[in-house]
Amino acid sequence: MFARISIALGVMLAAILLVTVPGKVQASELRDSIAADYQKTLDPLFKWFHQHPELSTQEFETSDRLAAELEASGFKVTRKIGGTGLVGVMKNGKGPTLLIRADMDGLPVLEKSGLPYASKRRQINLEGQEDPVMHACGHDMHITSLVGVAHQMAARKNQWQGTLILLGQPAEEGGDGAANMVADHLYDRVGRPDFALGMHVNSLTPAGKIVFRGGLMFSSVDMIKIIIPGIGAHGAAPHRGKDPIVLGAEIVMALQTIITREISPLVPALITVGSFHSGSAPNIISDEAVLELTARANSEDVRMLIRDSIKRVAENMGRVAGMPEDMLPQVVVQPGGAPTTVNDDALAKRVRIAMEAGMGADSLLPYVQKDMGGEDFPFLVNVDPPIPSVYFLVGGTPQADFDAEAKGGPAVPSHHSPLFKIAPEPSVTAGVEAMTWAALDLLSKH
Ligand SMILES: [Zn+2]
Ligand SMILES: [Zn+2]
Repeated sequence: MFARISIALGVMLAAILLVTVPGKVQASELRDSIAADYQKTLDPLFKWFHQHPELSTQEFETSDRLAAELEASGFKVTRKIGGTGLVGVMKNGKGPTLLIRADMDGLPVLEKSGLPYASKRRQINLEGQEDPVMHACGHDMHITSLVGVAHQMAARKNQWQGTLILLGQPAEEGGDGAANMVADHLYDRVGRPDFALGMHVNSLTPAGKIVFRGGLMFSSVDMIKIIIPGIGAHGAAPHRGKDPIVLGAEIVMALQTIITREISPLVPALITVGSFHSGSAPNIISDEAVLELTARANSEDVRMLIRDSIKRVAENMGRVAGMPEDMLPQVVVQPGGAPTTVNDDALAKRVRIAMEAGMGADSLLPYVQKDMGGEDFPFLVNVDPPIPSVYFLVGGTPQADFDAEAKGGPAVPSHHSPLFKIAPEPSVTAGVEAMTWAALDLLSKH
């Protein structure tokens, strides 16, 4: 009797579920739909973007193409926000607003990937010089995936409600693309989102795997210039001048003691002097040296400590060298810095559950910080009040390439390398899938 009642109840429950289920997306159906879209449109689109890379702030053709793709998918597009930035907005009834960001810029790198669709592009940079240009960071994957998400969400308007903002951002590599879009009244124009999502393809993660966590994702970035005055003299009479190259070399070495002696060995921190320029001839004591460095940290406290210490060390090394007070080394924080990228804990949990349910738990790998890379994504979300956000990585390198490297084969190329390449399939399809699951959950029908 009990059994019969429970069977009857079960049938009724199943019937009710069937009535309510049409709003639900089947995992295999979404995956098949993305695979078909990849074959038809996303694969050629990725190759087009890859062959048409453009330098930061000069993403003209890229933003034209992205705008056209979003418009064709039914999004209302607004162009020229903070330069070449754009947004596509789809309003779909009452509900929260979700912003998904993709950065668009390439890098001044001569592509040597050997890919059949390698870039041959060159572009005049802002200084008037011609540069080779390459999508050496994989932003072509980001914009292709954004279009894939546009296709899925437009085709599934009966499965979500709210407002979806898809954002094409210029100049991530320069570091000020996101900040410029916000300063150009991004949120006055399109409304303030309730959540924001971003992603980056990652060459050090197996293709198609998703990696993120609540809390810290990326380090803070500072770009700092140290201008070191000297007193010019003959190379054979150094005592008649002040040698800025020797002083610069001492500063380079002293800066490293900030990391090893002033910060706990358990706290990650980094100073890299990436550029050191001075002098014109072997027998001339130069009258200036210029150092350019990047400093990274995992918290704002350590970031500020490093900045203050760089100034203290540089100025006092000048005093040690006997420079007069009005000729001490000058420390200038440059544009291109960014705070740490921090995922909202609660949102990260929610997004993970949605992705795991849709893609299977084995599609997500644990996050381990492998370097001190940074992002300018925080400028989009560290507004007042902050917008809860999640930034995740999508693996871009086939497992076979890691296996080959482990056996002494070629090293997997890193981002910004002329050899950089990713496998667009399954990177793009996994990126679209992960983002679509997250979007469908955050904009779910109640
Ligand atoms: Zn990059
Ligand atoms: Zn990048």
